[in-house]
Amino acid sequence: MHPNIPYNETFRLRPQMIMIRTRFAPSPTGFLHIGGARTALFAWAFARHHGGRFILRVEDTDVARSTPEAVQAILDGMEWLGLTPDEGPFYQMRRMDRYRAAIDQLLASGHAYPCYTTPGELERMREEQRARGQKPRYDGTWRPEPGKTLPVPPAGARPAIRFRNPAEGVVAWRDLVKGPIEIANAELDDLVIARQDGTPTYNFCVVVDDWDMRITHVIRGDDHVNNTPRQINIFKALGAEVPWFAHLSMILGNDGTKLSKRHGAVSVMQYHEDGYLPEAVLNYLARLGWSHGDDEMFSMRQFCDWFDLDHITPSAAQFNTEKLNWLNAHYIQQADDERLAGLVRPRLEARGVAVGKTPSLQAIIGVYKKRAVNLNELADVAETFFIDLEPNAELLARHLTPEARPALAGFIAGLEDVPWEAPAIAALIERCIGEHGLKMPRLAMPLRILLTGRTQTPSVDAVVALFPREMALRRLSVVL
Ligand code: GLU
Repeated sequence: MHPNIPYNETFRLRPQMIMIRTRFAPSPTGFLHIGGARTALFAWAFARHHGGRFILRVEDTDVARSTPEAVQAILDGMEWLGLTPDEGPFYQMRRMDRYRAAIDQLLASGHAYPCYTTPGELERMREEQRARGQKPRYDGTWRPEPGKTLPVPPAGARPAIRFRNPAEGVVAWRDLVKGPIEIANAELDDLVIARQDGTPTYNFCVVVDDWDMRITHVIRGDDHVNNTPRQINIFKALGAEVPWFAHLSMILGNDGTKLSKRHGAVSVMQYHEDGYLPEAVLNYLARLGWSHGDDEMFSMRQFCDWFDLDHITPSAAQFNTEKLNWLNAHYIQQADDERLAGLVRPRLEARGVAVGKTPSLQAIIGVYKKRAVNLNELADVAETFFIDLEPNAELLARHLTPEARPALAGFIAGLEDVPWEAPAIAALIERCIGEHGLKMPRLAMPLRILLTGRTQTPSVDAVVALFPREMALRRLSVVL
């Protein structure tokens, strides 16, 4: 495959001939944020769509900022979302020998050269250029040219290694999201590919890795667009095939500014904490900058079937918490009660709530899940079934009126031997309000408050039936 072959021809008509390989290459300097997760999701889905491979590569060469905790946070986030790599994780820090070999290759082929300019000299050079109103750049002192005599290297000094960028022509690629992009080589500096201490630099490692890992499609955030022409030149100098590039636009917050903590959770695992289901977050992320007609709700299987790079919008996507909440409520409703109980139980236990066999957490969730936007809300309501509930005096004073008391007493008496199921309990409620000439809320409100401490619940007969008979009687009788 080569960038000059039209995309459609290569991947639409003859996909069986190409093994698509994508990668997600996070730098472990913090948690897995929403933007990173979206990049990972798109790279994963593209590989899935084409029956290819998805590779995870941890770019941990920035030793000052990379931490093992951040590596773990990224792995946890990906696992929670189910974005399982087919290969990796690979760690750049374990590949230093390979990068050195690739630098030697470029030195030997004349595509790289030692540069003895010291950091202090570079700083002075830049200041002078700025003072003259020029763009700061390396002045090429140590760059070999035909017929040029290079200065004599200072004794004992260790050089940095610079990439000898082509001086003329352009670097052009057809970005699969942004369209054709072209940069004049004259704009590009001779990049340092190894520092004086021998450590390879970021842009260089990325290229060697993408080459070695046979990445066909580099799908990443558009904060890397400026790196791409430099990387393409390095690919070519190494004799490597240049992959396709797809640069995803950034994600903005609700208010149109760059997504940040101000907009709520930005770490994927914070969404886990906040009670979102992974399928809701995935469905939400999938629609951040990609569309399939008007489809808003779809499974990851459908997403992988549908996903293509043609329907990624080049403009920025805007984060919308309300839509995420809407999706989460939908997926909670769809989810199996037993699974939800398994997700809510640890949240209750973390609060010190002992969850026994009765009432049944699963049954509580079955009744309440239609109303919940997140798992923490489900935990909030479930909690009231497992703790000693103090009747809320203020709510009772307001809702347990003198006219309602005899109806409540009749209901409690009737509860002693009513068949323990919602329809029979509903019939008992009807009978009691009928006997006392009351409207439904007059009795339903005190029942809700006494049983759950809240004025809003699903159908009150269903809520009564969630309790064991003795427990319901105990909660209701405290006011008699
Ligand atoms: N490590 C880079 C980052 O976390 C990504 C590099 C790439 O995808 O090429 O932003």
